[in-house]
Amino acid sequence: MNPYTIFADIVAGRAPASKVYEDEDVLAFMDIRPVTPGHLLVIPKTPARSLSELDPELGGKLFRVGQQLAAALRASEVGCDGVNFFLADGVTAGQEVFHVHLHVIPRTPGDGFGLRARPTHPARADLDYLAGSIRGALGRAGGKD
Ligand code: 5GP
Repeated sequence: MNPYTIFADIVAGRAPASKVYEDEDVLAFMDIRPVTPGHLLVIPKTPARSLSELDPELGGKLFRVGQQLAAALRASEVGCDGVNFFLADGVTAGQEVFHVHLHVIPRTPGDGFGLRARPTHPARADLDYLAGSIRGALGRAGGKD
């Protein structure tokens, strides 16, 4: 599959972006189609198509920068009473750009943003069964500790 994405061009400075934060590992910039004003994207400079390809240290850094940006949004002129983090991993999850990115979305009352979901009420036995399955997979997938 073609590893090219527009985010690689933004990192390389070949495509424009309204940058908010940059260090040796991470870049944050305004989403070009914001779902609320101030909607940001935080990306690793080293491309990773999916969470499974992303260096966990870098993943931690994405979150850390996201936290700082959330505080900055609240302190800035952007209307921001709350913040949502969102990360789409895979087509089914809504991923459109295959270079991992963390959305940092400032929220205000009535801004129209939301996740459509229908919570279910499974029995404890069903929760326990799936928890066991996931615990097992965590060991096989090489989860730390
Ligand atoms: P995804 O659905 O993959 O989680 O989100 C991709 C995001 O990237 C979308 O919110 C979209 O607006 C944003 N995006 C796509 N192309 C560009 C671009 O060229 N520049 C910027 N700043 N954002 C982009």
